[in-house]
Amino acid sequence: MTTQITYSTAQLQAMDHAHYLHPFTDHKDLGAKGTRIIERAEGVYLWDSDGNKVLDGMAGLWCVNIGYGRTELADAAYKQMLELPYYNSFFQCANPPAVKLASAIAQIAPEHMNHVFFTGSGSESNDTVLRMVRRYWDLKGKPDKKTIIGRINGYHGSTVAGASLGGMSAMHEQGDLPIPGIVHIPQPYWFGEGGDMTPDEFGIWAAQQLEAKIQEVGEDKVAAFIAEPIQGAGGVIIPPDTYWPEIKRILARHEILLVIDEVICGFGRTGEWFGSQHYDLKPDLMPIAKGMTSGYLPMGGVIVGERVAQTLIEHGGEFFHGYTYSGHPVAAAVGLKNLEILRDEKIVDYVKEKAAPYLQSKIAQLAEHPLVGEVRGVGLLGAIELVSNKATRERFAEKGMAGSICRDMCVRNGLVMRAVGDTMIMSPPLIIKPAEIDELVTKAWKALDMTAEQLGVEVSPRQP
Ligand SMILES: *Cc1c(COP(=O)(O)O)cnc(C)c1O
Repeated sequence: MTTQITYSTAQLQAMDHAHYLHPFTDHKDLGAKGTRIIERAEGVYLWDSDGNKVLDGMAGLWCVNIGYGRTELADAAYKQMLELPYYNSFFQCANPPAVKLASAIAQIAPEHMNHVFFTGSGSESNDTVLRMVRRYWDLKGKPDKKTIIGRINGYHGSTVAGASLGGMSAMHEQGDLPIPGIVHIPQPYWFGEGGDMTPDEFGIWAAQQLEAKIQEVGEDKVAAFIAEPIQGAGGVIIPPDTYWPEIKRILARHEILLVIDEVICGFGRTGEWFGSQHYDLKPDLMPIAKGMTSGYLPMGGVIVGERVAQTLIEHGGEFFHGYTYSGHPVAAAVGLKNLEILRDEKIVDYVKEKAAPYLQSKIAQLAEHPLVGEVRGVGLLGAIELVSNKATRERFAEKGMAGSICRDMCVRNGLVMRAVGDTMIMSPPLIIKPAEIDELVTKAWKALDMTAEQLGVEVSPRQP
């Protein structure tokens, strides 16, 4: 209708403010500042409507794994739209791209996981998780096993079920959440909450909170434990080495399903296809989305292990759950092409052997900056903790201020990093080249210097 008209940035911002309610946004604040309009992208770079070029250190929202500008995905979508733009997978129907994608995902998933339930997003995937674990225990003749244990500051999406499974206190407060039947244990966030314990001691302590919660609720009432391999939105929280092994020991003693939310870690982020493989976990369900299509189209799913899949299949009876867009043929065709690119160009190996070791060695140097209390990372995930005292891990007085200053300074320097409180986080496209990693780290150091200046902290003039 009006696509042929070229609007100025100011016009777009005015229309945006007049009509567009954004996700996770303070609109009063945004109205005063004006939105940044991102117009195009290529590789790891974005261009805004004023022509500024920005290195995207977040791969969009942790999703553009193969980078921007891959025409093969556009071609796959175009062809599929002409062939069959939509058909449902209800009523005993399927379409070729969805069937092929399910089978391709089963090939890269852990050996015991051979089925996929398709959704439209990560949040929907976790709604499916909630429905499916309860259906499973009903079929097993244990309908009292309904409670799901999640973690404080975990993130599993923004629908009612997703936000309830997650443990974001700000979301819970606004939504009168969690819904009944979902409880939370502490997170394995040593830097923020480890106190005087060593990371290894704290990892064991945090894992043992699961045992304590199972005892408190009663094993006969607990359906599942859900966790991200590495918490993403919570601040790239990498559990101490002792955490997952202790969780595995606890789960082995109890009859409880394990749900590993792979929405961020899936599709190569850690240098393995899935975070579960990085940590040697054996989940029953793995919600996926984001990197599944590299964000080119919205799509999610739940990869289902044999224990649950065979119970659903063998028992028979309809599972009254699904979405209009489950197995959407165009999204599936794009997902399939995305997987082919990841596989044929050996991008996951590239992350493991080259990009991740290089990024991790470079960002480790940022720990020398006077503002930085810790740098941590796995694969192409990284976090930088901003502190006022490196030795005591003490923060600046106003919580989140250093982080938001640093985020703005990054943007000013042509870099997108996100701030979670006073933790700077990064998750660049998996195809990022060494020279682009150098650029990311140089820009991050400069942003840290500018942040220090604004905070009145003295910095020596060295560069990494
Ligand atoms: C982003 C995210 C989700 C939610 O996915 P949406 O597509 O935004 O609904 C769920 N779990 C994790 C771990 C995520 O990072």
